[in-house]
Amino acid sequence: MESVSAEVARQVAERLGLDYYGLSPSDIRDLVADIVQGIAANRSTKPSIESLVKNIMRNKEAFLKGLAAKLVERGPPYSVEQLELIVSAAPEVAGRAAPMLYHEARRLGADHIVEALRDLWNRYGRPTPIRCPRCGFNAVAPDLTCIVCGASLSEEEVKKSIGFEGMLESFARRSPPQLVREALRAGYVVVDNEVKPPSLWRPGEYGIQLFLSRRERLLLERILRERASAP
Ligand SMILES: [Zn+2]
Repeated sequence: MESVSAEVARQVAERLGLDYYGLSPSDIRDLVADIVQGIAANRSTKPSIESLVKNIMRNKEAFLKGLAAKLVERGPPYSVEQLELIVSAAPEVAGRAAPMLYHEARRLGADHIVEALRDLWNRYGRPTPIRCPRCGFNAVAPDLTCIVCGASLSEEEVKKSIGFEGMLESFARRSPPQLVREALRAGYVVVDNEVKPPSLWRPGEYGIQLFLSRRERLLLERILRERASAP
């Protein structure tokens, strides 16, 4: 069985031009062996090498997808061509593995891969409402670290990146005044897609705590006064 797999792997690699991806037949032999076994198990007669190759070629896309998933499983280092294969053939897998693949893409200076990963992360990964100012992925965790690039961000950096002052201002203008006063008393707010006072945040929900600077407190107080004196 092993030599059959090796021969099928060699022929498939040649037909699909897998050299281009820097993949040797031995890289793909495991995957081919799985497929060959699956096909053989469903047949009473032993399939020929030719029919095995044909079968794989008929399901080329599924094969490349399986290959890309194997590459992700194997881990770095990758070449640019391998990253391209992973991103195009197995987008769901790539989206979930974006943190690891991002570091590889950066190491290789492959900006087009980084861009593709940003999109796949949003679709298949674990995107958060807050975009990381360093890598541009929606990946800032509640503890202010970035799930994708690993950066530890300061509150200042996050505030600047999300336009916190503007969000705070619209919170203060549209929320019931007692909620704005609550935020002032607590000294912090919770942010996901919007600014909330602590009482509107439920444990287990996504949310990052941002403490109010003196300037931000003054902003809230000023808006409260304006609203109180408005007719
Ligand atoms: Zn980041």
